[in-house]
Amino acid sequence: SYGPAPESSAEAMAWITRHNGAFGHWIDGAFTKPGASFATSNPATGQVLAQVSQASEAELDAAVKAARRAQPKWAKLPGHARAKILYALARLVQKHARLLAVLETLDNGKPIRESRDIDVPLVARHFYYHAGLAQLLGAEHPDLAPLGVCGAVIPWNFPLLMLAWKVAPALAAGNTVVLKPAEYTPLTALLFAEITREAGLPKGVLNIITGDGDVGAALVNHPDVNKIAFTGSTAVGRKIRQATAGTGKALTLELGGKSPYIVFDDADMDSAVEGLVDAIWFNQGQVCCAGSRLLVQEGIADRFHARLKRRMDGLRIGDPLDKCIDVGAIIDPAQLATITAMVDANAEGETYRAATPLPAGCFYPPTLISGLSAASPLMQEEIFGPVLVSMTFRTPEEAVALANNTRYGLAATVWTENINLALDVAPKLKSGVVWVNATNLFDAAAGFGGVRESGFGREGGWEGLLAYLKPAATAKPLKPVAA
Ligand code: NAD
Repeated sequence: SYGPAPESSAEAMAWITRHNGAFGHWIDGAFTKPGASFATSNPATGQVLAQVSQASEAELDAAVKAARRAQPKWAKLPGHARAKILYALARLVQKHARLLAVLETLDNGKPIRESRDIDVPLVARHFYYHAGLAQLLGAEHPDLAPLGVCGAVIPWNFPLLMLAWKVAPALAAGNTVVLKPAEYTPLTALLFAEITREAGLPKGVLNIITGDGDVGAALVNHPDVNKIAFTGSTAVGRKIRQATAGTGKALTLELGGKSPYIVFDDADMDSAVEGLVDAIWFNQGQVCCAGSRLLVQEGIADRFHARLKRRMDGLRIGDPLDKCIDVGAIIDPAQLATITAMVDANAEGETYRAATPLPAGCFYPPTLISGLSAASPLMQEEIFGPVLVSMTFRTPEEAVALANNTRYGLAATVWTENINLALDVAPKLKSGVVWVNATNLFDAAAGFGGVRESGFGREGGWEGLLAYLKPAATAKPLKPVAA
């Protein structure tokens, strides 16, 4: 251990024990009896944390029915009444922040510093922001109506934050929700379910069913769901788009990425290196918008790489509950094997691994690979691990061409002290988000989402809310306009 004692897991383990280590689904405001189950474990230690149920078709149907029953009444509540409950949820997330953060770190393997200082505060912020929007909707937008029952399928890399991104706008708009968390990380969603009771959320407004991709597919295919909001891999996103085609279901897809991180030769090098550490080693690189492709201008490439390597050597890898840890565990041995195989299959290029000692278990060292051809799978495919690939460029035009040489388009980062250059380059990048002299900035009020194979639709902001609304049928016929 590098510093103060690791965060205690006692409270989180006590919560699991209170449930006898086995969870059912959260349907109509209560847990069902645990059924056929699978284990969810701590990737840093391999320790099984709890048994979680695999939803049957009947359980999925019960969840959708509960959401359908609850929806008209929830939608009829005045906006300020929905807002009151969303504010309560935000405050309760803050009240239980420590428990939520520790549980997230146990189930996911991410450093406690990230779950405590980034994930959980962003979750609270998301509910605060959408409480405001609920109020505004009711007062100012009688022309907009909810869609009905929304199905949400989310990934394991930001379990609670992805829940918030889906649940807060859906509820603010007057929809009800059936959510399926990822099979690796169901625990914070189940704790959040309990918190909704404390907040006074009417039963049936949020239902949580657990299970693997088959349960996700069954939710997508359920005939009585009006919208699907999905975050996950491009491969699964493609299946979901096909499954919903022609059904009339609304759909938003937040998918993968291979985001460029462009450093021009006039950039503030210390900041650009620090930004890059955040861009690619935050959450072990298991981030949809990870700055996983460094494009550095030729004249500074050697100096930049040298500084980056020194910084890599200082990264601390280990027990995610240790407050001084920078890099935690990879989500699962299978994902670790995927990362290892992708990197090992690469014959070309020069590989540098952080000198920091690597603990035994599900860990992968921060890695930098340079000298690859643009067509290398490592340059083109999402690795979803702590692996950065690097290329050099000479001119801004070449930087733009290399940056856009991908099937993805989620995020991009540009570092330069020249505002004219930044303003010239940023709009040429085919990307949903462009950060200038900063990276990984998220705000509930700003729409986030991709273009190309990174998906479509935005989450956050007014545009994110609109993805949960449709034009309302007007109560009164419009007056004919005099000729
Ligand atoms: P995944 O696509 O394997 O799984 C995501 C979710 O979909 C899980 O809950 C899974 O059980 C479910 N699922 C699997 N097969 C399904 C099917 N056929 N039908 C319906 N649901 C199904 O992704 P993952 O490995 O959990 O997450 C990593 C991926 O998510 C990465 O590609 C990453 O870039 C992406 N991601 C994107 C964003 C974004 O905002 N764009 C955010 C986070 C993660």
